Amino acid sequence: MAIQLFTPKFEVQECLNEIQECLEKGWTGLGFKTVQLEEKWKRYTGLPFAYYMNSATIGLNFAVEILKEQNGWEDGDEIITTPITFISTNHAIPRAGLKAVFADIDNTMCLNPESVKERITEKTRAVIFVGIGGNAGHYDDIVRICKERGLRLILDAAHMAGTRVSGKMPGHEADAVIYSFQAVKNLPTADSGMLCFKDGKLDEIARKKGWLGINKDTYTRTTNSGNYKWRYDVEYIGEKAHGNSVIAAIAIVQLRYLDRDNAYRRQIARWYQERFAQYAGRIKLADIPKNCESSSHLFQILVENRDEVIVNLNRHGIYPGVHYADNTLYQMYAYDRGKCPYAAYVSEHILSLPMHLQLSYDDVQFISDRVIEIVNEFSQT
Ligand SMILES: *Cc1c(COP(=O)(O)O)cnc(C)c1O
Repeated sequence: MAIQLFTPKFEVQECLNEIQECLEKGWTGLGFKTVQLEEKWKRYTGLPFAYYMNSATIGLNFAVEILKEQNGWEDGDEIITTPITFISTNHAIPRAGLKAVFADIDNTMCLNPESVKERITEKTRAVIFVGIGGNAGHYDDIVRICKERGLRLILDAAHMAGTRVSGKMPGHEADAVIYSFQAVKNLPTADSGMLCFKDGKLDEIARKKGWLGINKDTYTRTTNSGNYKWRYDVEYIGEKAHGNSVIAAIAIVQLRYLDRDNAYRRQIARWYQERFAQYAGRIKLADIPKNCESSSHLFQILVENRDEVIVNLNRHGIYPGVHYADNTLYQMYAYDRGKCPYAAYVSEHILSLPMHLQLSYDDVQFISDRVIEIVNEFSQT
């Protein structure tokens, strides 16, 4: 049996029951379960606002675009970001007419606060921090830098559903936090995500923009309902970006089990750590600060012969992944190539071992043994 990098696990019967409610009620679109999920997500994270969208990608786009408009940023203004992330993070910046400026990462695989400081110019308006693999890295330092320098902060928490820092959910300090509920993330649905603004006014704008810029409230307020229900005003050029009740139904069920599931992921991570402990020179792990209880979305290692390790694991039916290739290798972002040497190194040496809820203790031993074999062979030649 092949061991995949990710294999989502669903509470199937509960999901079906929850979806059945939508079908019986005849309510599968915006509203109903989307509202319930938003309320539950706010309670779970403690964040003041939560807007359920059809992906984290659109959430990132909205966060950057709305912060730009509301703060009067100009085209060409800069946002500091990481080269080691999924491309959604960085595309949000040029999409809004802004420039992505790449800072280096550190051993946490997240942004290096020192490098971020070096990248700040008069044009810098914000930082996007990505909690890679669920790790909060040096997020606290980034929060402090943003405060000191008057910068906005966007947290790409696509990997961070359930991550806690010093016992609390991170994100209260950020202007916007974006979670992904994509099929292989820690809270899997099919596709969807949550955009959590700190400012309620921005949340309101996002909700209008997420449904073509339509504002229904003006007419419900100014007319005495009944006859004029079909009337509405349009304030923006929006998108069709909101989530729907059927997918929200799945999220509601999966959220019930998120903490339990993440605890098992952390157990898997500990099994890997214990197995690799005596090979620390050859198999390096990402640093996770002591105060971070990671969602353990990924289990990443750094090895000298990464590509060889992947080919050999494939031969044993094990399919690891790479998170991520240095984004400045892509022609779109090549203007910053060579400026983030540690990210460039990581891009060539990192791999993600299988990490999901179907893995057993024996699976983890089997995978680890194969990695150790291949790494040892390499160091003897
Ligand atoms: C998955 C992911 C996204 C995008 O999430 P979608 O819900 O698929 O749009 C953004 N950033 C990171 C770091 C991701 O891993």
